[in-house]
Amino acid sequence: MQGVGFRPFVYRLADELRLTGWVCNSTQGVTIELEGPADRLDEFLIRLKNEKPRLSMISALDYSFQTPVGYTDFKVIDSLPAGDKSALVLPDIAICQDCLQEIFNPDNRRYRYPFTNCTNCGPRYSIIESLPYDRGNTTMKIFRMCDKCLMEYEDPRNRRFHAQPNACPECGPHLELWDRLGKTQAMYNDALLMACQAIKQGQILAVKGLGGFHLVVDATNGQAIERLRQLKTRPEKPLALMYPDIAVIKKDCEVKSIEEELLCSPESPIVLLKLKSNSISSQVAPDNPYLGIMLPYTPLHHLLIAELKSPIVATSGNLADEPICIDENEALARLNNIADIFLVHNRPITRHVDDSIVRVMMGQMTIMRRARGYAPLPISLKQSVPSILAVGAHQKNSIAIAKGSQVFISQHIGDLDNRLAFETFTKTIKSLAGIYDFSPENIICDKHPDYTSSKYARDTMLEREEVQHHYAHVISCMAENELDGPVLGVAWDGTGYGDDGTIWGGEFLKVDKNSYMRLAHLRPFPLPGGEKAIEEPWRIAIGLLYELFGRKLFGDPEYRGFIPSDKKINDLMRKMLEHNINSPITSSAGRLFDAVASMVGLCQTITFEGQAAMKLEFAALKVKTDETYEFVIDHISNSYILNWEPMILSVLKDLKTKISANLIAAKFHNTLVEMIVETAKLVGEKNIVLSGGCFQNKYLTERTITRLRQEGFTPFWHHLVPPNDGGICLGQIVACFQESNKE
Ligand code: ZN
Ligand code: ZN
Ligand code: FE
Repeated sequence: MQGVGFRPFVYRLADELRLTGWVCNSTQGVTIELEGPADRLDEFLIRLKNEKPRLSMISALDYSFQTPVGYTDFKVIDSLPAGDKSALVLPDIAICQDCLQEIFNPDNRRYRYPFTNCTNCGPRYSIIESLPYDRGNTTMKIFRMCDKCLMEYEDPRNRRFHAQPNACPECGPHLELWDRLGKTQAMYNDALLMACQAIKQGQILAVKGLGGFHLVVDATNGQAIERLRQLKTRPEKPLALMYPDIAVIKKDCEVKSIEEELLCSPESPIVLLKLKSNSISSQVAPDNPYLGIMLPYTPLHHLLIAELKSPIVATSGNLADEPICIDENEALARLNNIADIFLVHNRPITRHVDDSIVRVMMGQMTIMRRARGYAPLPISLKQSVPSILAVGAHQKNSIAIAKGSQVFISQHIGDLDNRLAFETFTKTIKSLAGIYDFSPENIICDKHPDYTSSKYARDTMLEREEVQHHYAHVISCMAENELDGPVLGVAWDGTGYGDDGTIWGGEFLKVDKNSYMRLAHLRPFPLPGGEKAIEEPWRIAIGLLYELFGRKLFGDPEYRGFIPSDKKINDLMRKMLEHNINSPITSSAGRLFDAVASMVGLCQTITFEGQAAMKLEFAALKVKTDETYEFVIDHISNSYILNWEPMILSVLKDLKTKISANLIAAKFHNTLVEMIVETAKLVGEKNIVLSGGCFQNKYLTERTITRLRQEGFTPFWHHLVPPNDGGICLGQIVACFQESNKE
């Protein structure tokens, strides 16, 4: 891995053991030549592994003996440019303690300098243009180091030895504060202080950070947040927060020790934390018992928040579902109607890198959005695979390339719904492939013919493979858990194109080394209005009830509460369902959540994906019960159908007797868990793999794991790649490789 202070460490070790020779970065990793007595060479090998720098990782170590050359000293020599590019690119890393002390020490020459870094911290992936990781191949190449910086850079004993983004106030990037016209209002420290003033006054600040822009407002100012929400067209989706320090977080939220570790880690992700009391505005995450919180991770963020001394909203600098801005001129154009003022700098960002989001489930990390701090670190496979490019799904898209036994997964790209997102998608493919000199032999996409990513794959003219969505989910989870199968995969999500052309999403797949079989699924029901229904859960509820009651649904006063009072809409819905017009059939678990969320009155329309299911989860958290509803598992032509009919009839009964939505939500969750457990028993496979967007739901996931364990099963779930569609690209690669193995 490059940029983690490995060579200075090798230098110091060789120096200490009085060994001569050299160390050098190459595109494949690190090469070391050493001369000295055998016992000290042995000691070197042992200590190399045991004492390596915190951020470094040795994935393979080969050595051989050669004829002595007669070196007189030990040198760190320049990188060798030639060879196959397989060295790892490091993600962007949060500022280290040493650098942090420097920026707050008035006697240090980097006092209050927002671009301070060293070999243990700072930007990497967001500034790298190509390998090897040398300054000339980063966006820092436009800044010439001053004498003092150069001395640090060339001294193997210095913390900044070969720190590629090394800079100081004299020679490095600087801050500017721009108004909406791009006119400079202030520079350097004044820019920072004025930006803080603007936040305090309730303005919206756009800040150029590490991997893109943030939009920042005071988290205690409800009006400012409301305005940000309106301008960003993001009415309800939770906003991320940045807190001054862990102590302040602990005042507002429950923080378990693993959550604290994650918050303070070099990856420094957004961690979803349970709310305790609330000093911030309820506008941040309306009706949500969790807050997404991160700590400052760059010197710039530290300086900002030290000045403000209170939490800020730090949401991605974009409009609605567009990708984040990375360039100040682009930001000026795209964020002009949102931000009042722009805090920018002149260190170019090569590629967008969003903040990562993680959640702790069963005491372990599950990643929800994989970007800064994690991307583009690879997932290692047990075997080598051919050069494959996987283009992922449609929502929460990320792409992956396979090289040798490594799968490099791109940073989160987002939903491919608009032109800008598609541009970012193609740019990300190009840039990841570019770094690794990668040209794919095959391209893999989802089976869904209308996904933008699938269309892209068809247009490339490369040999193309399609992988079923839920198979990709299960196999991505198997890959990160190093499972070969057989397993029973539970793939529960919102939408995925099924092998029979219907919409799947409540699937049980038995996955073997080279194949999968759909052994069970949720009972399907129609979605009147198709895509429209996903935005309006009340339609989904009607679809579900129509499956049970047919035409009776529309006449019977019993069900009046679920039917729109507008006669025209009412007739339209009835016609669509009766004549099977634009009413696709789905076995989706996510849609079942939506239907129940609507039935109990929690959510009739959504403004962001997964909102209805989230509301149902939060409702369930408000009661503690093990109660379940009845359900049956039908066995029809070699397939188990999880029949929710008795459950939905009971929900209707509960609604009539005024049982609370919270209790119904909890019983619903518990019932789904028992459905999984019963199906697992019927199938009889010991290893159960949980994947798909539904397993972002903590209540569902933790209860499923606990119950499966009680019944003697071994459940596996996601940690390194998201359970949602962000993990699909990994699954596509492994699935395609195993397919080709079979032939
Ligand atoms: Zn540092
Ligand atoms: Zn300098
Ligand atoms: Fe999915």
